[in-house]
Amino acid sequence: MIALTYPARSDAQHRFVTRLRDGLVDHDLDSRVLESADARSLWIGGNGLLQIEAPADELIDDVVLVDPEAGRIERLLRSGSEHNTLLVTERCDQLCVMCSQPPKKNHDDRFALLEEACLLAEPGSLIGISGGEPTLFKSQLLAMLETVLSIRPDLSFHILSNGQHFTTDDVARLSEGQFAHVAWGIPLYASTATLHDRIVAKPGAFERLQDSFDYLLQAAARIELRTVILQDNLDQLPDLARYVSINLPFIEQWSIMGLENIGFAKNRWDSLYVDIRQNFEPLDLALDQAQLRGIPVRLFNTPLCYLPADFRHYAVASISDWKRRYAPACDNCHQKSNCSGFFEWHPEKLIADVTPL
Ligand code: SF4
Repeated sequence: MIALTYPARSDAQHRFVTRLRDGLVDHDLDSRVLESADARSLWIGGNGLLQIEAPADELIDDVVLVDPEAGRIERLLRSGSEHNTLLVTERCDQLCVMCSQPPKKNHDDRFALLEEACLLAEPGSLIGISGGEPTLFKSQLLAMLETVLSIRPDLSFHILSNGQHFTTDDVARLSEGQFAHVAWGIPLYASTATLHDRIVAKPGAFERLQDSFDYLLQAAARIELRTVILQDNLDQLPDLARYVSINLPFIEQWSIMGLENIGFAKNRWDSLYVDIRQNFEPLDLALDQAQLRGIPVRLFNTPLCYLPADFRHYAVASISDWKRRYAPACDNCHQKSNCSGFFEWHPEKLIADVTPL
């Protein structure tokens, strides 16, 4: 797994963002490498000396958040990666049964630091934003996006949100041209309020979500709908496909996703996980419905060898590089470079159970 944090030392009195440079330093927030050995590097920048317990060549051009008190750096934007995601809060107002990042009560306001990081991003970057629920801090979030995109119109954002906090007052703001660079990844787990609300553990969530979809439609916002496959909703996926095609035909994409064995799902795995190889029919019907009705649909977090040949074109190699792994047998698979593989924390017995293509 690729490390996202490293132990570090700095004499600065506060957290700061810096971009780690090899030779050329062309921004006030850049730091330049002074020394690098096998497992340690020394950098100099506007906040003085920074020692990181990692060799410089692993970090060149990364944008990092230095936390002197915690004694570590966090790699906010890894150079050359297409999988950079910024965590804006760990608070959330839902408690989804399979949440991969269970919410916490505390909120650490890092918006100013994250804004600085975004302004240092590589040209043309797509930056992910997640939580917790980012729109619990909607005014700060939208202000950050507006500032960054006004200075860096080459950037774009993908924001994971539970869609519970958009209001009619947001329509004009989200209609502004800058927000054409922002896509919202919003989960919908079922076509009925009963099941969706049970999965997200919030009464009324389904109804509130429909209101948000109305506001986002009025703003011509870009929406990626997300559905995690669970034992509870597998059989209802064809109904959900019909629901999406009738009520949400304006979405940019419907992403149907495999479950992650982390967070709440780890202890509930046996009651949540579905091996689609054992019962592919509901997914088959849902994909056909979506395709027939013109809904762009994709499968995330799903190994290609789990799918009948006719359905492999729906699959996206979606698992981020830092948390992706393959089975030893995958080395003999000619589809490995196109395959999502597995999450680093996927159950070992399932990882061993693959059939190379
Ligand atoms: S054998 Fe491995 S690389 Fe090939 S499709 Fe299956 S999981 Fe993917």
